[in-house]
Parts: sequence; C-alpha cells; structure tokens
Amino acid sequence: MKFTPETYKLPDISMQPFIDDEEIDDILKNAKPNREQVLAVIDKSLNKNRLSLHDTALLLNTEDPELVELIKDGARKLKEKVYGKRIVLFAPLYVGNYCSNNCRYCGFKASNKNALRKTLTKEELIENVKALEEHGQKRLILVFGEHRVYSADFIADTVKTVYGVKKDHGEIRRVNINAAPFDIEGFKIVKESGIGTYQVFQETYHHPTYTTCHTSGRKSDYDYRLTALDRAMEAGIDDVGIGALFGLYDYKFEVMGLIRHVNHLEACYQIGPHTISFPRIQDASEYDLDDKYAVTDEQFTKLVAILRLAVPYTGLILTARESRQVRDEVLAFGCSQIDAGTKLEIGAYAENPGVDQNLNKEQFKINDDRTLNEVIDELLDGDYLPSFCTACYRKGRTGQHFMEFSVPGFIKKFCTPNALLTLAEYIVDYASPATAEKGWKVIERNLKQMDEVYHDKVKERIERIQAGERDLYF
Ligand code: SAM
Ligand code: SF4
Repeated sequence: MKFTPETYKLPDISMQPFIDDEEIDDILKNAKPNREQVLAVIDKSLNKNRLSLHDTALLLNTEDPELVELIKDGARKLKEKVYGKRIVLFAPLYVGNYCSNNCRYCGFKASNKNALRKTLTKEELIENVKALEEHGQKRLILVFGEHRVYSADFIADTVKTVYGVKKDHGEIRRVNINAAPFDIEGFKIVKESGIGTYQVFQETYHHPTYTTCHTSGRKSDYDYRLTALDRAMEAGIDDVGIGALFGLYDYKFEVMGLIRHVNHLEACYQIGPHTISFPRIQDASEYDLDDKYAVTDEQFTKLVAILRLAVPYTGLILTARESRQVRDEVLAFGCSQIDAGTKLEIGAYAENPGVDQNLNKEQFKINDDRTLNEVIDELLDGDYLPSFCTACYRKGRTGQHFMEFSVPGFIKKFCTPNALLTLAEYIVDYASPATAEKGWKVIERNLKQMDEVYHDKVKERIERIQAGERDLYF
C-alpha cells in the first residue's frame, strides 16, 4: 500500500504499520537536487515550514560540498532564529541490563555470556540518584533492558522512587524513560507515575535490516516496535521520542524513516514527537556487525543539519556517544538537549569506578566523558546557555512543545528566563568557582538583552535564589 496525504486523513491509520520501504527507495531514487531546489528547500524551512519527504530526499542527495555547507548554514540560522542559545542538560541512569532480546549491536543482548548482569536495588537506586543530585543534575532518562522483571509496575515504582529522592537542595524534576514498549495498559501504568518523555527507537526502519539485526525476542517483531508510540499515545502519553540507530543501514533511508514516523504521529494524533534521537553505533561487548553502513563524521553532521531543517520544531537529542569535537559542531545546528557527566555502568554514579569503561558492564562505548561541570563550563565559553528547565512539563504545557517554536515570544517569556533561573541555582549550589564566575557573567549579559519587564522579574527571582529559595520558574 502506498501512503499519501489522503490516506493519512483516514481515522483508522493509528496503530497501523506505516513504513513502506519501496516508497522510501522511490522517493530517494527520484530526488535529483539542483542548486535552486536546495536553496528553495532551505528557505522553506527557515520560514518555519516542515519539509516533505521529497524535500528531505533532495537535501539527503546533495553531495556538492558547497551546497552541503549551505544546508549546514541553514540549520545554524534556524537554530539562532528559533531556539536561541539554550541547551538543556540531562543524564542517563541505567537501572538494569537484563534482556531477553538479541539486538546484535548491543552489549546487553541475551546471548552475550560476558555481560555482567545487574539491576539496581532500591537502595542502590537512591544512592545513585543522590550522587547525580550532588552534581547538580535535575533531569534524568532511566534506561532498562527488555525483560519481564522490568514490568510497567516496576518502571512506575522506579520513577516514583527517583522523584522522592532529595539530597540537600537537589531533586530530580523530570524523569524520562527509554525502555521496551508496552501494551496500552502498561503505558497507562507508566504514565501515572509522572514520566516526561517516553522514548522508543525503531533502530532501523529498513525491514530486511531490522530482521537481520534483531534475531530473537519480543523486539524481533518490527511492527510491534513501530506502533509502540501509537499505543503510548492511545494511553495518554503525548510526549514521545523517536530515534534511529545510525550505522545499521543506509543513513539516508533512516532519516526518511524518521520523517515518515513524524508524519504518521502528526497525522494520527495532531502532534509530532517531542524529540528525535540519532545515536551512531559504537563498539559494544560481543558486537558482531560489519561496518558496511558506518556513518562518517561528514555524513553524520550533514544528517543532523537535515533533521533540524526537516522538523524545525522538534527537540534533537545529542548524546555522549559522540566525541566532543563532533558534539561542538552539531550543537550549532540546533540540538536542544545533551547529556553530560554520563556514566553507563550500572551503579557507577554512586560507586565512582573511574572513567575507564568495562564494556561487559555497559551497553556501548562513549566518546565524551566530561563531567557535568566541564560541559557547562565549555557551553558557557561557547556562548550557550545551559538549562535544567522543567517548567513546561510541570505547568502542564505538555504535548505542545512546538509552542516554543510557533508561539511568538514563547522563548523570551519562558525558555530564556527559566534557563537563567536554573543556571543560577546550579551556580549557587554546585559550580566550581571558575565556572561560577563565568556563569554570572553570562547571566548578566543575558539579563541586559532582556526587555525591562522580563529583566526585572528574572532579576528579582535570581536574588531570591541567592537568598536560599529554589525551584522558581515561569
Ligand atoms: N532495551 C530498550 C530498547 O531496546 O528499546 C532500551 C534501549 S537501549 C538500553 C537504548 C538505545 O541504545 C537503543 O535503543 C539503541 O538505539 C542504543 N544502542 C544499543 N546498542 C548500541 C551501540 N552499540 N551503540 C550505540 N547505541 C546503541
Ligand atoms: Fe536489549 Fe535494548 Fe539492548 Fe536490544 S537494545 S539487547 S532490547 S537492551
């Protein structure tokens, strides 16, 4: 079946598979970009329009280095125009690595006899959350293998425990999830625990590759995975994250799959995903895939710029899988969230085993092991505004994340002030003296650029934070 805009108007397409490999191949094959077309597509995005699959294919097939540079420039401009300077920070917390699937790229796969399996006990969980709070983290993503022990009730309990941990001024204000998909009932249970975003990555949208990479277990069912976020939406979770694992198949196909997925969610639920993730494959224990589709740095930076232009209002998540150099380049294209102070070994935040990774205890290798303070320090040097803001979710402004993009003045009214307030809290409670000095200067500079009315409101709240109040937001 071919999917057309008309098909999408039918009400019964929710919960139905929607990826047609042949259609994506056809669009890619027929997209032969010339300079005018590329410039027109960039312009369309800069005017805050979503790109079609055909537009996206034109950008993906652009190989002329000068035009690729224009695409990257377009992404930089869009970022400046729409998102301003703030970068939201979070940390992943691996809760358990038991897994009954066999994803060939993952160190947690069931067949990996070298994997050292562990699930944090409640006490260990609390100790790890305290350790994260002591560094200043406010937003976590909890990560789980896919196993019957990680039931919806278990995940919901874990979320509630995390929210309950308070160390000094520390607290976790937003808990996101990356775990196996549930049925609708399961998603309802997890929603009730107060989660932020529920992430499920399709890994590869290409059917034959999916089958080759997922050899057994629940995850080997492509369609069950593909429709996971439809079930989440049906369960009332309107804040979802999609992703593809780059390196399993042709990167162009995967970008097209992601855009098709956005189209599907928008058509069925009138809301696209909150975030898109684009992890690039890294070494892992018992890794057994060839590197035929390995994505080079040049391809990777290009594809991030294209994603930015294709879905101008969706959050882009960049992780510590990437080196600091690559992260620096693509941050400028409008990635909205990055992790910092990342440790993948289960329990490592509390045990502090050092920076060397033991891949038998971890899912994959990371390439950026800077501490949270180091990342914040360098963001400040780069004129970014590090933010721990959780205001929209807590004020009930969920499911409308595109407001920051489409509602005039939204960033000025909410995002920048909240970034400044959370940065002020970080400086007072956790920053090194050198970072604190830089941080106050950045706050001063940003305050000066604000309209008088916001300036006064934010300054008054910063003074209250300096006097000991916490968790002030707009
Ligand atoms: N078990 C859950 C699942 O499969 O959906 C949670 C996901 S896993 C713990 C988080 C993500 O890490 C996966 O969805 C996959 O995209 C990514 N991942 C797995 N192995 C990887 C590797 N070797 N390199 C980079 N990312 C990897
Ligand atoms: Fe298990 Fe997820 Fe790893 Fe697959 S990616 S083996 S489901 S933890």
